[in-house]
Amino acid sequence: MNRLVFNSPNGPLDLYTPRFVRGSGGDKVGLCPICIEPVERGGRGLKMFAKTKVSAYNYHLQYYHGISSKTGLPYSPPIEFRTTLRDAAFEPDDPTKVKSKSLSKKTSRKNMMEGRCHACGEWVALQGTKDVDVLVKELYWWKHAASCHRGTTIAGEGDYFVHDEVWARIREFSRQKEFL
Ligand SMILES: [Zn+2]
Ligand SMILES: [Zn+2]
Repeated sequence: MNRLVFNSPNGPLDLYTPRFVRGSGGDKVGLCPICIEPVERGGRGLKMFAKTKVSAYNYHLQYYHGISSKTGLPYSPPIEFRTTLRDAAFEPDDPTKVKSKSLSKKTSRKNMMEGRCHACGEWVALQGTKDVDVLVKELYWWKHAASCHRGTTIAGEGDYFVHDEVWARIREFSRQKEFL
């Protein structure tokens, strides 16, 4: 097995770039810098590797953690929320319809949560049309953000990090570097 090699991030607060990679070419994998963090610091306490060349790594960071590859920071959330009734919920029962239709109607969502995007101003569906539990609730928003935000964030947005001892040390280190 190839050994892990240090991979320099764009600064200590870059949440996207893997700190360690292994292998090369199509087999190159990056270690997720968020999963590796302990649970109490927002991670999962596990080594999660994903291939960097087939965008598996990109997919994991963007659609599992909601981290933008362009900013290295979390995607901006919606600026407004609303819930709309879906028309499909008002379809009258029709006994002549085939079974598969009535099945899909049963699981079809009656209310749809939507969020408004700071970049395009559109209302974006935050849920799937099927009323089922999903692994990553924010997936629909993050998919929109990845194709729409293009590195932009809500004006004045910031303060992404928990102000713990690690954060204090990074801030102190960054300050010292400015005076070098
Ligand atoms: Zn991860
Ligand atoms: Zn948008």
